[in-house]
Amino acid sequence: NSFLELNLSRPLLRACEALGYQKPTPIQAACIPLALAGRDICGSALTGSGKTAAFALPVLERLYFRPKRIPGIRVLILTPARELAVQVHGMIEKLAQFTDIRCCLVVGGLSTKVQEAALRSMPDIVVATPGRIIDHLRNSVSVGLEDLAVLILDEADRLLETSFSGEIHELIHLCPKGRQTMLFSATMTEEVDKLVKLSLNKPVRLQA
Ligand code: AMP
Repeated sequence: NSFLELNLSRPLLRACEALGYQKPTPIQAACIPLALAGRDICGSALTGSGKTAAFALPVLERLYFRPKRIPGIRVLILTPARELAVQVHGMIEKLAQFTDIRCCLVVGGLSTKVQEAALRSMPDIVVATPGRIIDHLRNSVSVGLEDLAVLILDEADRLLETSFSGEIHELIHLCPKGRQTMLFSATMTEEVDKLVKLSLNKPVRLQA
């Protein structure tokens, strides 16, 4: 039960070490190998379980071996609130610190112009709240989800509460069918289950 056994590349192992992570949390140990194998994942996980690194590390591993210069967004992480997006973005920057993988934050309250420029500069990962990323996708010809490889729905129960679930559905329909999807939720409500059926393909269910 160590990060070494999870087949992560050196720069990611170094980052875990720099963050003081000694061994994977249970959700990380369960999620990382399945995510690396390309499976869709539905995880019941609370904040504090280590779920952010559970989805971020396999995504970073995949991006580390990406072909260069794919213009579109490769990974989209949707969160229900600005503060959570800021935290997830910060965590990913730390985990990616020894790689050239770039992550950008798209949330309300930041300048739309600056975010538009950031999106155009071809980030690999975008962490966003639904309303704000939809604005960019609707209004920009240069920002699209055609090249998306992984979609992450973080705190899905809150995503369905706090934003219009119509926006979530619109975003899911803009994503390519062959993508990988990971969904995490503190509670598995009927609404979340509907979202699971709609957006995940033969998901593995994990409990933190
Ligand atoms: P999360 O549940 O993703 O919000 O993470 C909660 C906290 O646990 C964050 O401060 C992480 O930096 C920390 N954390 C995540 N994974 C590990 C790990 N394997 N060992 C120690 N701390 C961790």
